[in-house]
Amino acid sequence: MTKPSKSTQDQTLASEELVVPGRRRVLEIMGMAAVALPVLGLQACGSDEGAAPASSSTMDKVEPAMKDVAAKAEKAADSMADSAKTAMDDMSESVESAAEEVKADVQQAAGQAQTIATDAMAQVDENGPQAMGLGYKHDATTIENARYKAGQQCSNCALYQGGSDEWGGCPLFTGKQVKATGWCSAYSAAS
Ligand code: SF4
Repeated sequence: MTKPSKSTQDQTLASEELVVPGRRRVLEIMGMAAVALPVLGLQACGSDEGAAPASSSTMDKVEPAMKDVAAKAEKAADSMADSAKTAMDDMSESVESAAEEVKADVQQAAGQAQTIATDAMAQVDENGPQAMGLGYKHDATTIENARYKAGQQCSNCALYQGGSDEWGGCPLFTGKQVKATGWCSAYSAAS
């Protein structure tokens, strides 16, 4: 199996440290432990008895050092986990916020496009041949047509496309707007 080169290992370590800074602290502490433990051991063994096996006094010195290293490692690991969680939370909030902004921009653009398209349409000429043929008037109350019934007007006709606007489209007058208060003989009550 091919061993990773030293430069590859260094690059990997560097990138990990960038993502989680706390990991560097863990590595430092573990390095300190690797240096400290042999020194403590040698000091403990440097008695008149020469190279005698580790005594209880040796363990008395080593154990606190190991506990200290373990405590520091645990603290660094907690810090590392907190940093990672904070970074993830920040990233999640940023993405969510950006998505909301894009959504709002799209809705605003769609509304503007609709307004522009509606405004661009000319109003129906009451005296035009098509309006005359259908008996269309902007003011339904002025209609004198046997089919007309009080209350009928474009705004409550099934073909009116203006919603609650004062003017709106009607498929019978392509590219033109009829008035919400208007009426023509093709009126069909909205259900
Ligand atoms: S069809 Fe309806 S909306 Fe169109 S002009 Fe006639 S009454 Fe108005």
